[in-house]
Amino acid sequence: MRRRRIHEGKAKVLFEGPQPGTLVQYFKDDATAFNNEKRGIIVGKGVLNNAISEYLMLRLAEIGVPTHFVRRLNMREQLIREVEIIPIEVVVRNVAAGSISKRLGLEEGSPLPRPIVEYYYKKDELGDPMVSEEHITAFGWASNLDLDDMVPLALRVNDFLSGLFLGVGLKLIDFKLEFGRLWEDEEMRIVVADEISPDSCRLWDTKTNEKMDKDRFRRDLGGVEEAYQEVARRLGVLPDSIPAEGGRPTLVK
Ligand code: UDP
Repeated sequence: MRRRRIHEGKAKVLFEGPQPGTLVQYFKDDATAFNNEKRGIIVGKGVLNNAISEYLMLRLAEIGVPTHFVRRLNMREQLIREVEIIPIEVVVRNVAAGSISKRLGLEEGSPLPRPIVEYYYKKDELGDPMVSEEHITAFGWASNLDLDDMVPLALRVNDFLSGLFLGVGLKLIDFKLEFGRLWEDEEMRIVVADEISPDSCRLWDTKTNEKMDKDRFRRDLGGVEEAYQEVARRLGVLPDSIPAEGGRPTLVK
């Protein structure tokens, strides 16, 4: 079946969904870092991120965090609600790493005094610059009311996922969320969109502090595929076999 391609991003493709108001989100093995300067393939990543993101979105829905997720369709695809993506990446940090370490001269791994929320404007040409609430509301990317929903949701997601990951021996160092506006009979709700996976989270092993996320790719640490598989295994969602990209999609029972 040929489906209309709505959007192709770095790690995912969005297709028209089977019903109005739905989309199919296809997870690729492509990996990029440093604003597209570094590109590669992480074999099996799409399958693993599809499974991991499904699991986390379902757990979030159970505690009342609304998400765009409907159900997984096959190894690489999930059905999602079509939302209007808010062009802001919301990053929540518990421990200093990555850009905050560089920007503020904080040693990687040093705990932050409290969870810190940051905003980045989604604009590839500009390398996703960090912005403040002032920029967001002045330029109309999101309203104060939107932010009043987004920030408490992001902090709830942080508390919940920190505990969930701790239960499987992983520290949630930081992560990125995207939000969308979901319209239902004239009513608008803000929901968690995109994906939650080792592409968008920093996860360190609690015992060894080993990095179990995309930093293994960003920093050429090796064992990238294995790290993604280990996260899936610990969450109990590692598939028996990981089909290569381009294979025939198999339906989920
Ligand atoms: N992140 C992401 N997409 C981005 C930028 C960051 O998913 O475009 C995630 C990243 O994986 C990390 C967190 O957001 O878990 C904070 O990233 P940081 O600002 O430290 O940037 P980076 O080190 O990735 O440049």
